[in-house]
Amino acid sequence: MTHILVFAETRGGAPRKVAFEAVSAARQLADQTGGEVHAVLAGSAGVGAHAAALGEHGADVVRVCEHDGLAHYNGDAVAALMAQLTQGGSYRAVFFSASAQGKDLAPRTAAKLRTTLAGDITSFVLEGDALVVTHPGYTGKVIQTLRLTGSPAIVSLRPGAAMVAKSPKAGRVEAVAPPADPASSRVVTTETVLGDTKKLDLGEAPVIVSGGRGLKAAEHFALVEALAAAFGNAAVGATRAVTDEGWRPHSDQIGQTGRLVSPDLYVAVGISGAIQHLAGMRTSRCIVAINKDKEAPIFKVADYGIVGDVFEVVPALTAAIAAAKKS
Ligand SMILES: Cc1cc2nc3c(=O)[nH]c(=O)nc-3n(C[C@H](O)[C@H](O)[C@H](O)COP(=O)(O)OP(=O)(O)OC[C@H]3O[C@@H](n4cnc5c(N)ncnc54)[C@H](O)[C@@H]3O)c2cc1C
Repeated sequence: MTHILVFAETRGGAPRKVAFEAVSAARQLADQTGGEVHAVLAGSAGVGAHAAALGEHGADVVRVCEHDGLAHYNGDAVAALMAQLTQGGSYRAVFFSASAQGKDLAPRTAAKLRTTLAGDITSFVLEGDALVVTHPGYTGKVIQTLRLTGSPAIVSLRPGAAMVAKSPKAGRVEAVAPPADPASSRVVTTETVLGDTKKLDLGEAPVIVSGGRGLKAAEHFALVEALAAAFGNAAVGATRAVTDEGWRPHSDQIGQTGRLVSPDLYVAVGISGAIQHLAGMRTSRCIVAINKDKEAPIFKVADYGIVGDVFEVVPALTAAIAAAKKS
């Protein structure tokens, strides 16, 4: 039980950033267990072309399942595949990303195998025989430390919690077949509609600039958009107060009932820092908060706080970042 199996999530036929995070994390663990990393790529014909990229990030073996019935995501069929591959190997752990797909797949796979599951983990380490993981619980009010002693342990890793790291390995391709024809699955996905593909995904952006009710009106999000554009690698997020008002789409919402994110930098603009919002972003590596109320709870989790009016601070910050990028 030394190898690590990892599901490499794809979108539009190519691995997502979360797939590379999961493979890099699996590599770290395999280096401790002395085992190999086996990555799984599932999709329609051609998905295997991305095996080399997974090898570069630490996969010794890439198990490629190409089937027309997997052209669209099918949780039922992919969980059956992951369970079959897990049973057929000697795995200490199976990694998924705690993305929408991973949150669907990890419990299904664990249930099929009747094995341990820890969802949405933010760190992991091997201590003797136990895989010790942390998981923010109760909307982030507590950090739970879980000792997973059973093998294989199924875990899903919070997007952004692990760094993408290059660690070239063979990435040897092994073709595998699904255990049953995906077309006979109880789930039939007929279409996948991608969101705005020109926008950076909140789960993948290294920087997120998020706006709250302090912006006062939908049109003032132009300030947030301009700051994000100045960074050049930023996505725009929002609080629920904002999405409920209809100022931004619900897909932009960060928090307990929205997206869980861990970017390198999170800029909170006119956000109070309600516990439900913090649940979605407090694991960000660096938090900058701009709020005119110095008592706002967001300052308790912020690494840098700016007490001031967003309508003055944000344009000044945007100009400063644009100038710094130029020089
Ligand atoms: C079950 C449940 C689930 C929830 N899930 C979520 C969730 O997933 N995500 C989420 O975000 N919320 C969620 N909420 C809502 C949450 O409780 C808060 O109501 C919400 O996060 C507040 O959003 P806000 O910070 O934008 O607004 P407010 O709390 O109104 O804060 C606005 C802030 O802007 C500041 N401000 C005002 N004007 C200016 C200015 N000119 N310059 C600078 N600062 C200014 C104010 O000082 C204030 O701190 C949930 C609530 C419940 C009950």
